[in-house]
Amino acid sequence: MSELLEIAPDCFLARDTCNVYLLRYGDRALAIDFGTGAWQSLLGTIGVRRLEHVVVTHAHRDQVCGLYRQRDPQTVVHVPAGDGWLLAATTLREFWLHYQDGGCPSCYAAPRQPVPGVCTDMAGDCETQVGPARFCSIATPGHTPGALSYVVEWHGRQLVFCGDAVHAGGTLHEPYHLEWDHWTPGGCLAAWYGLERLGACRCDMLLPAHGPVVGVQGRACIARTQRRLLELIRVKGSVCAGARQRWVDAEPLACGAWRLLPHLYRFGANSYLVIGAGGEGLVIDPWQADLAQLDPLLEETGVRRIDVATASHYHADHSDGLNALRERFGTSVWLHPRVAEPLLNRDLWDVPWLPRESVRVDRLLPLNGSFGWSGYRFTSHDFPGQTRWHTAIDGHVDGCHVLFSGDNYQPPTRWNGTGGFCAYNGSRFDAHGFGLSAARALAIGPDMVCNGHGCAYWFDRDQYRRILRWARRAGDAVRNLCPGDDWLTHYDPRLARWEPFVARVERGAAISASLVVTNHRPRPAEVRAEAMLPCGWRIRPRRLAGQVPAHGQRRWRLRLQTAADAAAGRHVLTADIVLDGELLAEAGVMLVDVLQPPAPAAQPIARGTRRPVAGIPPRRSR
Ligand SMILES: [Zn+2]
Ligand SMILES: [Zn+2]
Repeated sequence: MSELLEIAPDCFLARDTCNVYLLRYGDRALAIDFGTGAWQSLLGTIGVRRLEHVVVTHAHRDQVCGLYRQRDPQTVVHVPAGDGWLLAATTLREFWLHYQDGGCPSCYAAPRQPVPGVCTDMAGDCETQVGPARFCSIATPGHTPGALSYVVEWHGRQLVFCGDAVHAGGTLHEPYHLEWDHWTPGGCLAAWYGLERLGACRCDMLLPAHGPVVGVQGRACIARTQRRLLELIRVKGSVCAGARQRWVDAEPLACGAWRLLPHLYRFGANSYLVIGAGGEGLVIDPWQADLAQLDPLLEETGVRRIDVATASHYHADHSDGLNALRERFGTSVWLHPRVAEPLLNRDLWDVPWLPRESVRVDRLLPLNGSFGWSGYRFTSHDFPGQTRWHTAIDGHVDGCHVLFSGDNYQPPTRWNGTGGFCAYNGSRFDAHGFGLSAARALAIGPDMVCNGHGCAYWFDRDQYRRILRWARRAGDAVRNLCPGDDWLTHYDPRLARWEPFVARVERGAAISASLVVTNHRPRPAEVRAEAMLPCGWRIRPRRLAGQVPAHGQRRWRLRLQTAADAAAGRHVLTADIVLDGELLAEAGVMLVDVLQPPAPAAQPIARGTRRPVAGIPPRRSR
């Protein structure tokens, strides 16, 4: 932190982990957003003796972390009413406690700690007087659903503090925050409309929360962002617009399952049963909820045991029955290496839809190669799409060439022909994602595609050629929206991550953990890092420094010591990282569950002695 830059009369910019703007009036000031708050030491250099107010655009931890690290209790903090729950102790605790319960969390950058005593007095279409300034609020949801932009008349100019609703160049800082769920463009649509309204306001200076200030043509910048956002909305629509439906007419059975071929059945929502040469079963994508339908299907088909089970991807609704099958039938679990990654230790990674339990793997399938089972020859493929950790398996069953491909590519009317894409699921495009798997499907050229969620259909080359073209367009849409030329820096929510993501530890005990930093830039990056810990916790080493290779990763192994008096329950850790000179405060999260210490074992009471009564000292025996 070197200086406070005067960008307009009595309006200063502090470059922190986010842009902090200061409006000065006499020897007082108010701040828009707060970052780490380290810039407060410079207030004297611009003649400010007291910071009276902080107005927050949205409650991401890079905007507000300083408010729980170092805040003058006299400073009044104003936050968007819709983001208040992210700063309140009870709701924030609940958020972190249930973080993994669903798919995408309701916030990708929630604060590590609450900020007590804030005023939730900022709301869309309200004019709030803060010090000498009138803050006219426009709802610009996106980075958070409650995010606001503020239009402020200041020394005759209309300043627009837009938070992360816009970034210079008609782009968006970390656009993955707009992916409110794993497949719809809901967050992007809300963001687009917010910009439609913001773009209608006069803008003499556009002041985003990250990147350069937009001194001229702020409205043109907003309109450009909107155009790119609209393209993202469009590609979040159909992946194969105009393609034909080619559903397979399966034969319903009395037990509720469906016969696709004499040796191939679909049961429950997601699961398939292949019958082997010796009458044993292979189950693909066992969802625990589907297993109730397996017993009657086994009875109807005469299959006595499930020999092998596998999963197309790690999502719980395709994999959480693996352990149950093993317990029930002694089933051997065979997994593709990518699918095994998050399943072997489900606490390792911060990814959506994890099963509750880890899965032991008996055999790793080839990354791209063939394997045999009970008279069949199958081939497993690296098949990224809805998630990075996805495979597809093809082989001939009853003379029909079948491709089992999980949640990649449904018939055109189902979910727009895809299981959706989002950064949090590790979705990629082109040769590393959808483009790779669509090209593989075309090369395989199956007869029938057996996908999850009841989607069995006849393969159509035209549909997959459309998907291939869509993948290029979708990749461009995301890249164009990201600032700079290293788009993944803005589309990777795990740029810095802790391993494990979730740890369980007894109070006062120590555990090993790693901090992993990824550099998506085409050049090596210098990194410094410091862990942000709960009070009284220690980590060795405390400060880290080194270089991360271009398009590479760097891992630091650390020893984390919990405090001797740490409260039982969940604690949130992060790290301040300086990557290539840029401060990323509170990057990466680790959830540490401090276990309730076991109750002390009851002492055996000798016969004849009296049990002591609480509060009454035992009578001394004679
Ligand atoms: Zn943000
Ligand atoms: Zn899935």
